Amino acid sequence: MRKHTDSNDIIAFEAVSKAYGTGDAALKDASLSVERGSFTCIIGPSGGGKSTALKIIAGLEEPTSGTVMKPDHVSMVFQSGALMPWLTAGENAALPLEAQGMAADKAAREARKWLRMLGLRGLEGKLPRELSGGERQRVGIARALAVNPAMLLLDEPFAALDPKTTDDLHRDIVDIWKETGKTIVMVSHSIEEAVALSTRILLMKDHVVRKTFDIDLPHPHRAHAVAFSREVAHIRKEFFK
Ligand code: ADP
Repeated sequence: MRKHTDSNDIIAFEAVSKAYGTGDAALKDASLSVERGSFTCIIGPSGGGKSTALKIIAGLEEPTSGTVMKPDHVSMVFQSGALMPWLTAGENAALPLEAQGMAADKAAREARKWLRMLGLRGLEGKLPRELSGGERQRVGIARALAVNPAMLLLDEPFAALDPKTTDDLHRDIVDIWKETGKTIVMVSHSIEEAVALSTRILLMKDHVVRKTFDIDLPHPHRAHAVAFSREVAHIRKEFFK
């Protein structure tokens, strides 16, 4: 059994439960850990507690019982992008910086830097409705990174995108992970996506982490590796067990 308080862990849950109202618990004595600098994916059948675990990490929900070690300063990217429709891409990305008290011109410069890193040069002045789904999601990621969080949380960020856009974003998120060295925790509904991106996969079932898989495949072009399909098949078996 892995110890959950390794000094290299940035997140550690010990026997964490979360009940909403009088309903069944979303998490039941769940323990998990996330290594600093890792790219961790949480997968599992619907209703297993993935989003609840992510919300607790984000500080959006409090556990009912158990102990949680996590950094305070984290950024979350939602599936929809969650942009303000009346603000431009640049203004959206600068908003959290201004909310932190940064002067508007400095925040705009910093936001522009991250938008460019996400491949959005020249689109800073566009409104969300003038952007594609993939571009909106890129603005969401730029906005999340602009505040220099200790960790980036992604809740099924690519679920609503077409396969080509998803492929491009997969490549870019791995590049960003490597360039920034940030810990990434991502909830995904796709086993293939989790194997393509992450260094570790947590399989959540019945409100606990049922299995942990370490993925040791080279980036990029992982999906072309022979071992890729083997890994996916292995995890799929556990997923549907
Ligand atoms: P997953 O992300 O794996 O689909 P969730 O964490 O969203 O799982 O949900 C786990 C369980 O908790 C589900 O049964 C769900 O209905 C319940 N749940 C999640 N969020 C809430 C909420 N805000 N209020 C009441 N029940 C909730």
